[in-house]
Amino acid sequence: MIPVRGFEDKTVAVFGLGRTGLTAARALIAGGAKVALWDEKSASREAAAAEGFPVVDLQAADWSQFAALMLSPGVPLTHPKPHWTVEKARAAGVEVLGDVELFARTVNAAPAHKRPKIIAITGTNGKSTTTALIGHLCASAGRDTRVGGNIGLGVLGLEDMHGGAVYVLELSSYQLDLTSSLKPDAVVLLNISPDHLDRHGGMDGYIAAKRRIFLNQGKGDTAIIGVDDAWCQQICTEITAANRRTIWPISAGKAMGRGVYALQGVLYDATGERVVEVADILRARSLPGRHNWQNAAAAYAAQVLHWDRTNRFCGACGRPTVPAADPAKRAKVCEGCGHEVYPRVSPCTITAIHDGARMLLVRAPHFPPGRFGLVAGFVDPGESLEDCVRREAREEVGLELAEVTYLGSQPWPFPHQLMVGFVARAEPAEPRLLDGELAEAGWFAPDALPQLPPRLSIARALIEHVAASLPR
Ligand SMILES: [Zn+2]
Repeated sequence: MIPVRGFEDKTVAVFGLGRTGLTAARALIAGGAKVALWDEKSASREAAAAEGFPVVDLQAADWSQFAALMLSPGVPLTHPKPHWTVEKARAAGVEVLGDVELFARTVNAAPAHKRPKIIAITGTNGKSTTTALIGHLCASAGRDTRVGGNIGLGVLGLEDMHGGAVYVLELSSYQLDLTSSLKPDAVVLLNISPDHLDRHGGMDGYIAAKRRIFLNQGKGDTAIIGVDDAWCQQICTEITAANRRTIWPISAGKAMGRGVYALQGVLYDATGERVVEVADILRARSLPGRHNWQNAAAAYAAQVLHWDRTNRFCGACGRPTVPAADPAKRAKVCEGCGHEVYPRVSPCTITAIHDGARMLLVRAPHFPPGRFGLVAGFVDPGESLEDCVRREAREEVGLELAEVTYLGSQPWPFPHQLMVGFVARAEPAEPRLLDGELAEAGWFAPDALPQLPPRLSIARALIEHVAASLPR
């Protein structure tokens, strides 16, 4: 839980006693605030009273005693008409906010070195998948990652913050309407299409809510915006004019003067001086469909951005690097010694190990509780991919592999891996945790698999491929 700061010894009215309201009440109390809870359903009030919360009739209460009204995102703020609690709060000059705003203020109140990184994701479609995938990527990169917001746990129910933590938050338009202080380090706006218009008073209100996610972004922050609909395009144009953050427009259907886009299945990079044709995605059998073109564009953008940021100076002589003169080359050249630097790709094997009946799944310490994945590791210099697969199985779980078969690969831009997927049959034995990199390892029957990595990841594809091939 994240104890809320800024309301010490003050009383906050909490309306709506679903999961969000109760979590916020606990977090407010943990931070030293007092609360007054109410819900129109008597069963909800009784449950809150049973947990020891003060239940106060907000219809009859004296609103001058409240410092704020914490509104659950399910309660109408403006349309079709403001809820009666909102009207009472406004009449008494009491501010109305949501749980994401309480989180934002708590982050902002912390000293700079204790503030976590925040990645916020919104859009009409695909935000849960994207949030889960980004959370998985951050955890795979070894970051202490918490995923929540509109999915899973409400943000205040997540583990408390520290300077090295990353919060990956899915935010709905209802939550954004109640948020004004959040300052995400990175924002992903995927798309906008008409949705929840009754609650936002029409399309303009809905777009205005989505736009609030960019409200406090400034210099050094990053915005990634899918620009395949007119509304997102408009937002992208407006915040580009404001010109304070790094903006990466992503498209799966149109050419752009600046950004990364896929057109007729070909991926183009227009982030530098010239447009560079990067890859023919139509030939990539593992990436069918337009949404995967957008994924490929985003993955490419993330890798090139990282490479650009980390190669500003020559590793050989220390002088500044400049883009290569040849537009066909994605390279940086040292002005002093001519040393050329290309984007780095680090091969990494990932292996679905089975024994003919069961699958071997492992859990790294930084995985979310209960989630298992596959044995994986970086290829050493001088090693073949197959050697790497066998070495990782031996080092991490003490298993010898009988057959090793290549299945497919996936770029993994965190920051620059190429995941090379294998299926392998192990000699019968129990796994042993040998090098201390893993927290758990075990054999699982194909019809009794634990929580798995998200769809879109090669780990999930390999697990599903092998699970389908094993006898039931
Ligand atoms: Zn040099």
